[in-house]
Amino acid sequence: MQNLNDILIHLGEEREKYFNAVSPPIIQSSNFCFKKLDDFRTAFLDEMESHLYTRGNNPTVGILRKKLAALENAEDALVFGSGCAAIAAAVMSNAKSGDHVVCVQSPYSWTYKLLTEYLSVYGVTHTFVDGTKIEEIENAIRPNTTLLYLESPNSITFELQDLEECAKLAKKHGIVSVADNSYCSPIFQRPLDYGIDIVVHSGTKYLNGHSDVVVGVLCGKKKMIKKIFDAEYMTLGGILSPNDAFLMIRGLRTLELRLNRSDESARKITNWLEAHPKVEKLIYPFSLSFPQLELAKKQMGGTGGLFSVILKTKNIQNVENFFHKMERFLFAVSWGGHESLVLPFCAFHNIPGRENSHHPWNLVRFYIGLEDPDWLIEDLEQAMSVL
Ligand SMILES: *Cc1c(COP(=O)(O)O)cnc(C)c1O
Repeated sequence: MQNLNDILIHLGEEREKYFNAVSPPIIQSSNFCFKKLDDFRTAFLDEMESHLYTRGNNPTVGILRKKLAALENAEDALVFGSGCAAIAAAVMSNAKSGDHVVCVQSPYSWTYKLLTEYLSVYGVTHTFVDGTKIEEIENAIRPNTTLLYLESPNSITFELQDLEECAKLAKKHGIVSVADNSYCSPIFQRPLDYGIDIVVHSGTKYLNGHSDVVVGVLCGKKKMIKKIFDAEYMTLGGILSPNDAFLMIRGLRTLELRLNRSDESARKITNWLEAHPKVEKLIYPFSLSFPQLELAKKQMGGTGGLFSVILKTKNIQNVENFFHKMERFLFAVSWGGHESLVLPFCAFHNIPGRENSHHPWNLVRFYIGLEDPDWLIEDLEQAMSVL
C-alpha cells in the first residue's frame, strides 16, 4: 500500500494545473468543451478517464476517486450520491434476472430491502446465511449463484465473516464477492487484501466524517469497476456532486486521526461500561467476551467508535428515562461523524401498527465521536443512575 499520509494529503492533487493552490478547486461544471475534434473523440471514447460530462467524470470527483482507490488498495473506485446507490450498483452489476445472491443475514437494513423487496421483483433470488459459519455459506451456494454479499462487521451487533475464507470460497465457485467495509473503514480493514472482489462503503460515515455529506464508494479491479461505470453508474446516474466531493476530500485529510481517536475513546468507554453493574452485555468486537474476538484481531486493526450494550433492567420505562437523562450524546441514527450518538432500540418497540424490532428494547447502539472520553463517561454515569 502507498503511504497513508501521502494518500490523504497529496495523492491525486495536480496542483500545478490550478495555480498551485493547496486545496483543490471545486469544478462546478456539468460540461466540458474541446478545441479539436480529435480531443473530443478521445474523451468521448473513454468517458471514465476523460472530462466530457460530469455524470461520467469530473476533475474534483476524480481526485477523490484516486484517493479512495489507494486507501482500499484497489485499482479504481467510483463514488455515488449515497452508500445505498453504491451497494445497489455493486449488486446489480453482478446479479441479473435468474441469478441468485448469497448474503449475510443481518446486512444494513436497506441492503436487506434491496434483495427482499426490490431485486426480487426483477427475478433475482437470494439466501440469507449466518456469515459466522463458512460451511453454511458454502451450502447456500447454488449453480446460479453469482454473488456473495458480506458486511463484516455489521453496524448493530457486529458479527464478522472470515474475509479470507469467504474470498477463497467465492473464487472456488466462480462468484463475485462484495464486502461492506463501512464499520472498519480502510484504516482498520482492507478486504481486497484478503481477496474480496469489490468493497463498498457508506462514505457518509467515517470517510466523510463530519455528518454533512451523504456519499457512497465502490472499489475494486479496473475491469469490474469499468463494467459498473458503463452500466449502473452511467445509466442510473447516482453521482456525487463536485461540491460534495470537495467536502469528502477535506474530510479524508483527518481520516486516520479521527479513526484513532474514536477507537481509543471507545476502548476506554467500553472498559468502563463492561464493569458497570447495569450493563448486562457489551457487544464490541475487541471485548474479551466477544465470540469472534480471535477473528476480529486477525483481520481488523481496530474497531473505531461503534459498539452496543444490553442494559440490565426489567422495565422499558427505565430505558426511556436513561435516554432522557443523557445530555452529551445525541439521539440519532447514523454514525462516523465528530459527535457521539446513541441509537435506542426501545424507540422501535410498541409502535402502533408496526412489528417490534427483532432487537431487544434494552439494546443501545453507541457511537463515540471526537469528544473527551472522560467527559462522555461522566454523562453515562449520571444517566445510568436512573436504571
Ligand atoms: C449507513 C450505511 C449504509 C448506507 O449508506 P448511505 O450513505 O446512508 O446510503 C450502508 N451500509 C452500512 C453498514 C451503513 O452503516
